[in-house]
Amino acid sequence: MDRLIRCITKSGGLMASAADTTYLTATAQQIHGLHAVGTAALGRLLAAASLMGAEMKEEGSTIQLKVDGGGPLGAVVAIADNHGDCRGMVAHPEVELPLKPNGKLDVGGAVGRDGLLGVMRDRGSGTPYTGQVRLVSGEIAEDIASYFAISEQIPTVCALGVLVGKEDPSQLLSGGLLIQVMPGASEEEVDRLAENVKRLPQVTTMLAQGMTIEEMVAKALEGLPFTQLASMPIAYTCTCSRERVERAFSSLSPDEIRSLADENGYAEARCQYCGRTYRFSKEELETLAVRVETRRQKN
Ligand SMILES: [Zn+2]
Repeated sequence: MDRLIRCITKSGGLMASAADTTYLTATAQQIHGLHAVGTAALGRLLAAASLMGAEMKEEGSTIQLKVDGGGPLGAVVAIADNHGDCRGMVAHPEVELPLKPNGKLDVGGAVGRDGLLGVMRDRGSGTPYTGQVRLVSGEIAEDIASYFAISEQIPTVCALGVLVGKEDPSQLLSGGLLIQVMPGASEEEVDRLAENVKRLPQVTTMLAQGMTIEEMVAKALEGLPFTQLASMPIAYTCTCSRERVERAFSSLSPDEIRSLADENGYAEARCQYCGRTYRFSKEELETLAVRVETRRQKN
C-alpha cells in the first residue's frame, strides 16, 4: 500500500510532504501499457499531483497537472484529490526512448522542453484557480518547483523519482518529496534546508535503500525539529462512472447521440484514465436521445 505523510517544522516555517507511490505508478504502467520512459514521466507527475492534492484542505478538492512539452510522449496529465488519490494519462504511451549517455531515462527528452506546465486547482466551488509556467527541463520535479516559485511565490524543493527495472520494467520504485518555505521561516531554517538538500540522495536511491518516507523527511529536515501532521494511504483511483459517460453524451444533440451506435448497434466509451469501457446499446442511446429532446423542448 502506498502512503503519504505531511509534516511541519516546530517553528512552522517549513512544510514537508513525502510519498511512496510505487504501487500507483505500477498500476498506471499496467493500465496504459507504458514503457520505461513513459512510466517515469507519468510516475513523477502522479507523485507531484498526489503531494500537491493532499495539501488542499477542502473536502472534494482536486488538482490537475498537465505537462505539454512538445516531446514524443505528448501531453502528460495527472489529477489528484485532497486525499492524495490520483489518476493520469499519457497521450502517446507507446513511446520509448534510448537511455541518456549517463544511463538514466530521458524523461526530459520524452516530455519535451518547449511548452507549459499547467496547474488547475478546483476547490469544488467557485472558479477553479489556474496557473501555468514555461517548462524548465521537462524532467518534471524542476518544473513543479519553478511553478511554485513563479506562480505561487512559494520557494519549494521538489524531488520526484521513478526507478524502472532494466530487465523487467514492472520492477519499479517511485516516490516524491515536497518541501515548502512558509512566509514565517527564519533565515537559519532556510539555510539549513539548503545544506540538507545539497546532501540529500535521490528519492529512488533512498527508496532502494529501504528508507521509509518518515526517514526521507527526517533526512531532508535534519537538524530541524518537526512534527507529523498526517499520514494517509494513497492509490491510483479513477472517478469515472456510467452516469458520467451519460452526462457527457447528453451534451450532444439527439441526432448525434443516435449516430454514436456502430454497425453492431453499440457505442463504446473508454475511460482515458483507467481503461474501463462503457457500452451502450442502440436502445439505451435512443432513451438518452429522447431524454435530451424532452429537456430541450422544456427549455
Ligand atoms: Zn476511469
